[in-house]
Amino acid sequence: MKPLTVEVAIVGGGPAGLTAAIALAEAGIETALVARRSAVDHRTTALLSGSVTALETLGFWADCAAQAAPLRVMRIVDATSRLVRAPEVRFAASEIGLEAFGYNIENRHLLAALEARAGRLPSLTRSEDEARAVETDDAGATIALKSGDRIMARLVIGADGRRSLCRTAAGIESDGRAYPQTALTFNLGHARPHQDTSTEFHTESGPFTLVPLPGERSSLVCVVEPVEAERIAALDLTALNGEIERRSHSIFGKIEVEPGRGVFPLAVETVRSFGQSRIALVGEAAHLIPPIGAQGLNLGLRDAATIGELVVSSRRDGSDVGAAELLARYDALRRADVKGRTFAVDLLNRTLLSDFLPTQSARGLGLYLIDRIGPLRRAVLREGVAPAASQPRLMRGEAL
Ligand SMILES: Cc1cc2nc3c(=O)[nH]c(=O)nc-3n(C[C@H](O)[C@H](O)[C@H](O)COP(=O)(O)OP(=O)(O)OC[C@H]3O[C@@H](n4cnc5c(N)ncnc54)[C@H](O)[C@@H]3O)c2cc1C
Repeated sequence: MKPLTVEVAIVGGGPAGLTAAIALAEAGIETALVARRSAVDHRTTALLSGSVTALETLGFWADCAAQAAPLRVMRIVDATSRLVRAPEVRFAASEIGLEAFGYNIENRHLLAALEARAGRLPSLTRSEDEARAVETDDAGATIALKSGDRIMARLVIGADGRRSLCRTAAGIESDGRAYPQTALTFNLGHARPHQDTSTEFHTESGPFTLVPLPGERSSLVCVVEPVEAERIAALDLTALNGEIERRSHSIFGKIEVEPGRGVFPLAVETVRSFGQSRIALVGEAAHLIPPIGAQGLNLGLRDAATIGELVVSSRRDGSDVGAAELLARYDALRRADVKGRTFAVDLLNRTLLSDFLPTQSARGLGLYLIDRIGPLRRAVLREGVAPAASQPRLMRGEAL
């Protein structure tokens, strides 16, 4: 059968791949998306304000808004029983002129809105299939699908997650390591309101983070040692409700855990190149970061917005959208943002796990200084929400 020929083909229909597909097709680029419908994902994503602006610009934030809860206040509480403990810090979005730092939404609602938007774009062709192989040469790339069909493109965007076939096809290596920690995820109903406040308890095994959902509900990411994760995951519902109420210091009163628990062994990984051989990587195909500080998908959306911007501008100039120069530019634009956030998250996590007194003192002092010095406090908040060095057009509210 004759292959489908497009300008750009995207492999993987998670949130990063769907966003890249929408950004390109919205700008009129002939795009193919190779993606089966995702299984239900009970996790939630805290989308920071730049990501929300991008989804608004792409025309589907309105479909998400009713399912998303604003994050107006962030509280960090040192819940360790160590000798040196950091002071509690509390940040309000209003301090930096924002209504909210971002919005928390269940992934199933985010994906449904992305799927609906993708389905309405005439420049986007979807293959509900799986990529089996990707081959590239000077003229272009060919994707062989499981069904036997083929897609030819100038550029392939690998959005195929942590075990990326596209990354292997491009010959891109990565550096990373596993953490001695597992994240458990739950969605909860609770008796007392969260008041749009996200609360992060720092414990000796990692953060225990409650993030608002609409109504009297929150999502929870509880990072513990793997053996403890197994124990908690095996609890019956009554025992689990009690365990979570205890770990949350009863700030919300009685807890009711909803169906749909998740268990995620933690690791960190970054590719050595964000793109080569006509293949650009976005989202977890390019970087894996522990769920601390809500950075993972926010980085993935900036990847999608950046590659989209480069492709549209190259197309306008009549250049090859899979050219090595474009991929080198993409790598340069994404490296500092991803490396910087990975470093910060890794450092915070290490200082939590460390039993070394000077390290604990340094962490306490760092939080104290951020809390007390107004300009530093606002600079840290602004950088956390929207990195000064990486603001692609979509994150600034400008169409591609
Ligand atoms: C516990 C937890 C909490 C988190 N919370 C946050 C948060 O609050 N904020 C935040 O920004 N980030 C958060 N993250 C990170 C975020 O969930 C990820 O960054 C995001 O899900 C990655 O999306 P993705 O599209 O890159 O990859 P994925 O969602 O993994 O999608 C990859 C897709 O590619 C498909 N695929 C794979 N191979 C092929 C193939 N050969 N052919 C076709 N399709 C293929 C897969 O089936 C899948 O659908 C969290 C992560 C965890 C673990």
